[in-house]
Amino acid sequence: MIRSSADGHAVVVGAGLAGLLSAQVLARRFARVTLVERDRLPQSGPAFRPGVPQSRHVHLLWSRGLDLIESQLPGITDDLLAGGARLLRAPTDLHWPSPVDWFGPMPGTTLLAGSRELIEWTVRQQVLREKRIEPRTGTEAIGLLAAPGDAGVRGIGVRPRGTPNDDRAEQLTADFVLDASGRTWRHYERLRRWPDGFVVLGDASCRFNPVYGHGMTVAALAAHSLAQETEGRDHHGIRRAARRIQRRTAASASTALGIALGGDLRSPDTEGPQPGRFATVLQRYMPHLLAGANKDPVLSHALFDVLSLNATPSTLFAPSTVIRVLGKWRLPTAPATEPYPPNGHSARAQP
Ligand SMILES: Cc1cc2nc3c(=O)[nH]c(=O)nc-3n(C[C@H](O)[C@H](O)[C@H](O)COP(=O)(O)OP(=O)(O)OC[C@H]3O[C@@H](n4cnc5c(N)ncnc54)[C@H](O)[C@@H]3O)c2cc1C
Repeated sequence: MIRSSADGHAVVVGAGLAGLLSAQVLARRFARVTLVERDRLPQSGPAFRPGVPQSRHVHLLWSRGLDLIESQLPGITDDLLAGGARLLRAPTDLHWPSPVDWFGPMPGTTLLAGSRELIEWTVRQQVLREKRIEPRTGTEAIGLLAAPGDAGVRGIGVRPRGTPNDDRAEQLTADFVLDASGRTWRHYERLRRWPDGFVVLGDASCRFNPVYGHGMTVAALAAHSLAQETEGRDHHGIRRAARRIQRRTAASASTALGIALGGDLRSPDTEGPQPGRFATVLQRYMPHLLAGANKDPVLSHALFDVLSLNATPSTLFAPSTVIRVLGKWRLPTAPATEPYPPNGHSARAQP
């Protein structure tokens, strides 16, 4: 049996967005939260670091993600805007493709555009004000520690980053371990039984085609679910509830996953199992909905509510929405000419 202090110790692996938001949630329930990060974190302002290579790309944060982060860290929107981020209306302020043309100035939702470095830096400044969170940077997690007697996870092994072997490895025992180490090639879904005391979330749990810009919003949704599931439990209860917490946090990715898969399955080059009957119907319906949304403000609103993860895709099948889509069924759903012919020249440049 694991012995722990009265208030418990949690370890979070990865100080990306998912790790930071989760550490702040766990600090409400554990006396100590160790945030293990293999990078040295920038000290003087937003800056690139190798552990988050995707930060070279501008990041968009959907309104749902921003609202959740604002409710978790009040004042963060003002801090982000003061740091140079911008609030944009989608689709009005962006070149947003519809099946035939760019979207016009239709009603939709709000997006925050900023560098990934700025967003993470601003969140980190607030999160690390919490004294219960102890960052251990330049420290790499190298594996999970198993509790005796098949009793789940009891901590992690760590070593200073850059040490070629495990000579300087140490054990960090904990009542609860949360893996937020980002995109790795680990397949936790293959575990036959979920261990006590362990949860994985953020990109480490599920990652999406980045073209939909959902990763940070899903991380915020998962942290929100973590807060709800840990509410009212002590550290023993949280440890025992790991499987339930995992299910709940994983479910927060389902809408984003459905959108990404639905989009990818429309391409004939997509590999993998063929979609079921519902997905096939969805594939026929979506181009008509997208074409209609570029003409009908109500459809545009409904579409962007789903894209921003404020609503579930099922809302696109509400009878009133279906009737509107059917009313626009004759609108073209593909451009009259192929915009990108196979030889790479534009259609107009052909002799
Ligand atoms: C090209 C691209 C563009 C994207 N654009 C958008 C966008 O516009 N909008 C959006 O919402 N999302 C976008 N995303 C996704 C988004 O970046 C992530 O979903 C989001 O940052 C949450 O990531 P995370 O915290 O789970 O992981 P990360 O941000 O990757 O953080 C993981 C952290 O774990 C650390 N780490 C890894 N292994 C270890 C270890 N063994 N020990 C200790 N620390 C470790 C890493 O150094 C890193 O700090 C994009 C992704 C890509 C690839």
